[in-house]
Amino acid sequence: MTTTSAVRAKPGKLFIGGKWADAAGGKTFATTNPATGETLTTLAEGDERDADAAVAAARRAFESGPWPEMSASDRGKILWKVGDLVDKYNEELGTLETLDNGKPIFESRYVDMPMVAEVFRYYAGWATKIHGETVPVKGPFLNYTLREPLGVVAAIVPWNFPLLMAAWKLAPALAAGNTVVLKPAPWTSLTALRMGEIFEEAGLPEGVVNIVTGSTRDLGRALVRHPGVNKIAFTGSTATGQEIMRESAATLKRVTLELGGKSPNIVFADADLEAAVRGATIGIFYGKGEVCAAGSRLLVEKKIKDDFLGKLLERTRKTQPGDPLDPKTRFGALVSQEQMTKVLSYIEKGKSEGAKLVAGGERAQVGDGKGFFVQPTVFDNVANDMTIAREEIFGPVLAAIEFGDAEEAVRAANSNPYGLAAAVWTRDIVKAHRVARRLQAGTVWINTYNNYDPAAAFGGYKMSGYGRELSMHALEHYTELKSVWVNLA
Ligand code: NAD
Repeated sequence: MTTTSAVRAKPGKLFIGGKWADAAGGKTFATTNPATGETLTTLAEGDERDADAAVAAARRAFESGPWPEMSASDRGKILWKVGDLVDKYNEELGTLETLDNGKPIFESRYVDMPMVAEVFRYYAGWATKIHGETVPVKGPFLNYTLREPLGVVAAIVPWNFPLLMAAWKLAPALAAGNTVVLKPAPWTSLTALRMGEIFEEAGLPEGVVNIVTGSTRDLGRALVRHPGVNKIAFTGSTATGQEIMRESAATLKRVTLELGGKSPNIVFADADLEAAVRGATIGIFYGKGEVCAAGSRLLVEKKIKDDFLGKLLERTRKTQPGDPLDPKTRFGALVSQEQMTKVLSYIEKGKSEGAKLVAGGERAQVGDGKGFFVQPTVFDNVANDMTIAREEIFGPVLAAIEFGDAEEAVRAANSNPYGLAAAVWTRDIVKAHRVARRLQAGTVWINTYNNYDPAAAFGGYKMSGYGRELSMHALEHYTELKSVWVNLA
């Protein structure tokens, strides 16, 4: 394995009220490099007491001190500086993300971190543009609205894009004037902790962002139940999202949920097939398939299916797992042994339910073989009701399903509980837009896949959650709207 980088993961503490501290219980847990199976460092094992302390610090920062007094313009300047510091520390942050998550350094340094920086700069610009309106009510009254911050936001994020998913929440929350408690996923907390130092360096007042780590679900639960938290901004699995909805009912918190997906990638016979093959492979194998919007269901028109799969398999053979720290690697290690076992068990299920395995299907050997790598895997002859076509595998497993016409393609695409993303490949512009309108998905790509931009909204239909991240629409989820009446009589 490449060990050229001088970046080291230091032991993690909690970041509460501008101070770095051990967990109240004094316990720690280990975090592992999935490419080698080795322990990277230890992190603070936060519990309910630490959640209480972090929420108290965030409440203080929201109610008194410099943050509520600060002008929107000054808030924007700090956020812009955060973005610039993320660029400045690109190599360090990118390396930490790769060590912790197993994703190729190419992705961490040239995709994830630049977008983290862009998201902070995008919302830095919005800070001065969040405002109310005057409303033409009847009678001798002036009515106007105020857009106010919600208060304390608990941001709970998953392990697949650890810092990026945090940035999608932190940047709009802070731009709107909220304070935050960030809880990264247990397997991937390193970049979030480094971000605490970056916030200090950027001049964010103490307590405005607090960061708590822990290895169990109880820390997240404590935040969800906490009466001092006004909103939960969550990205993660649908099962956890459902639990969060139930648990947050008692305190009637605002909740936004970015959940799982099983996105259909529809290829018509009249598509630019070379481009579609590229899109289909990137769609499933980018990020080792641990991508919420992964194009894990490949719907191909029957008359080109064999030809298309032939080309796709050629490309799949070139997508080989490698050392994530090697700049040439494009396919890394799965995040953990547990995730690898889960993905391999789905592959077994695919075989036992009668799908035809045509590529991969096994653990891959990279280096000394101790890392959690799985070969890029493709199944042919998949029926839409098989487990591998219905459930989110969250790994590099593609299920190819054939269809006869557009009607059948749309029906198959929508006959799944999820609705996060979808793609359509065709040269027929009318068909492309017609199909895009009928797909039940928060994002539809036409003749492309996996495009993201801070200005483009992202979120789910159906069991993929609700609320939108990114774009101006995310700001609605971080503000309350107050209506003020003035008697002019
Ligand atoms: P997960 O639901 O297990 O955990 C997500 C986060 O929630 C972690 O920080 C975890 O510690 C915390 N958590 C777990 N149980 C909790 C509880 N009961 N209360 C509060 N917090 C709790 O998900 P994961 O395995 O970390 O991530 C993978 C999932 O995330 C996949 O389903 C994927 O599709 C989804 N995801 C969605 C998007 C999107 O934008 N829609 C983006 C990335 C990932």
